[in-house]
Amino acid sequence: MALAGRWYSIDRMDSKKYHCSHCDALVGPDIGYYCERQLGILGRIYICPNCNRPTYFETCEGGIAQIPSPRYGKKIEYLPEEIEKVYTEIRDCMSHQLYTAGVLLARKLLMNIAVDSGAKEGESFVTYVNFLESEGIIPKDGKDWVDAIRQAGNIATHKIPSINQELAEEIVTFLEFLLRIKYEMPGRMVKN
Ligand SMILES: [Zn+2]
Repeated sequence: MALAGRWYSIDRMDSKKYHCSHCDALVGPDIGYYCERQLGILGRIYICPNCNRPTYFETCEGGIAQIPSPRYGKKIEYLPEEIEKVYTEIRDCMSHQLYTAGVLLARKLLMNIAVDSGAKEGESFVTYVNFLESEGIIPKDGKDWVDAIRQAGNIATHKIPSINQELAEEIVTFLEFLLRIKYEMPGRMVKN
């Protein structure tokens, strides 16, 4: 990503390592702005050396708050545009503790992956999970994961159970793995 524009009157500060939520890169800039007051520094704004966008850090009760907060999980290369959009939205849900929303989107994404792999549109969630399993996209040792997703998949259309953080994280981790197998690894092979 090219650096666009120039920030004026930036100060040099202690360098800070963080995940930039704008461009997903792990960066460690030492330039930005800070707000001084008698009690000590209120907060610091760092400028990302990768995408040139600012992130604000402020000391709070639980430690240091990063605004905007980093996205949950990892970026995956070679995703089709539609799939990447939904996956990014899932990561945003997770970093804002919106676990039920994240898992509902995860189910949608699983269906998208199945259709993208040749399944018919408009089938039930379980049909898609079975399809992905029979096509070998969900590996044999992924049985426990499939069961976890099936359980979350029991969410009847009119009944939405609350989904806890642990289950949501497991499901998103599994999804991340599937996306790597289905898109990222083949994408890399083609490139190499
Ligand atoms: Zn950045």
